[in-house]
Amino acid sequence: MPERLSRVVRRVPPSKIREMFAAAQGYEGVISLGIGEPDFTTPEPVIQAALEDAKAGHTHYTDSRGDPELRRALAAYLAPRYGELEPEQVLVTMGGMGALNAFFRAVLDPGDQVIVPEPHFPAYRAMIEFAGGEMVHAATSFEQGFILQPEAVEAVLGPRSKVLLLNSPNNPTGAMIPGRVLDDLARLAREHDLLVISDEVYDRIVFGEQEHQSIYTRPGMAERTCVVGSFSKAFAMTGWRLGWIFGPPELVEGMLKVVTFYTSCASSVSQRAALAALAQPPRLFDEMTEAFRRRRDLALEMLGGMEGVRVHTPPGSFYLFPDIQALGRDPEVLARGLLEQEQVVVIPGGAFGPSGRGCIRLACTVDSARLEQALGRMQRFLAR
Ligand code: PLP
Repeated sequence: MPERLSRVVRRVPPSKIREMFAAAQGYEGVISLGIGEPDFTTPEPVIQAALEDAKAGHTHYTDSRGDPELRRALAAYLAPRYGELEPEQVLVTMGGMGALNAFFRAVLDPGDQVIVPEPHFPAYRAMIEFAGGEMVHAATSFEQGFILQPEAVEAVLGPRSKVLLLNSPNNPTGAMIPGRVLDDLARLAREHDLLVISDEVYDRIVFGEQEHQSIYTRPGMAERTCVVGSFSKAFAMTGWRLGWIFGPPELVEGMLKVVTFYTSCASSVSQRAALAALAQPPRLFDEMTEAFRRRRDLALEMLGGMEGVRVHTPPGSFYLFPDIQALGRDPEVLARGLLEQEQVVVIPGGAFGPSGRGCIRLACTVDSARLEQALGRMQRFLAR
């Protein structure tokens, strides 16, 4: 019988993170530091507004670009950081994932290469390959704080390079690309005529040590850069599946075609929830970021007391990416052992690319008491 599944679907490996989830199902009392979503539920006023709008009839397909009110509100929300945007430049999507998929589908032809700094959010590879493209890694290192260096991009540039992907703050490392590095990366993108996709879904989960900056604001970059944002992380709205992408009109028109024929539009009720989220006092969401900062500091302190573990202070996101090479144990085996013996889920760093092989990813997505308990168990496990 001929193969039923396509080559690309057979080639793309299943998600390592899902694998760890599945393994955790067999245990009682598990504390998961594996999951990349806020433990907070969506604030009540947002849920209430969505419910009322649904009752008032917002239950139909919307414009494929998104609910016009939401697009206007998004353009106003984004303007202080990115400059004036026409509402037509903003596309509402099913999560940041929908935005990334629309972008890759819209710009990639078979064989086109996307330069992806690693370690990286694992879904990028599948999205790029499903769209017919090819992912090429630009390595980062613990020594350089996992910050993408322009030389690492130059080292993999070739005739088929079409897109440079940036993700700052980064999943899984929490690293943020400093402004001067963005200047250099922008220069490279202009010189080599690259498109840039800047995944900024963690832009609001930053702790004040470093300012979040976007390559979009560099000279000549607005015409070649698309920026991805999401309500998932900073607004605690993962399940509503709502995100956005903006960029130059020509690319937005291309992505609009993809959205129209793939999903028609994002969920109308979720779009009303997002509109309500933008109207809330920022304090409501800033308090969650503050909680993530407290958890980060607690985790850093406890990791600091573990021999053989070294870790950077992540200026953003809710992840920590400690290097555990000095323990002399394979992180994959260690993660399994930690689950079996102490019922704590962490993700082996190799799941995010070769530069992450000596590390594990911890997500501070449980409250401080459980985080302390989880790290206490890890300490006990390492001491054995
Ligand atoms: N980009 C990064 C770096 C992520 O970590 C995630 C989710 O984990 C996403 C995009 C997609 O998030 P969503 O589709 O929920 O907006």
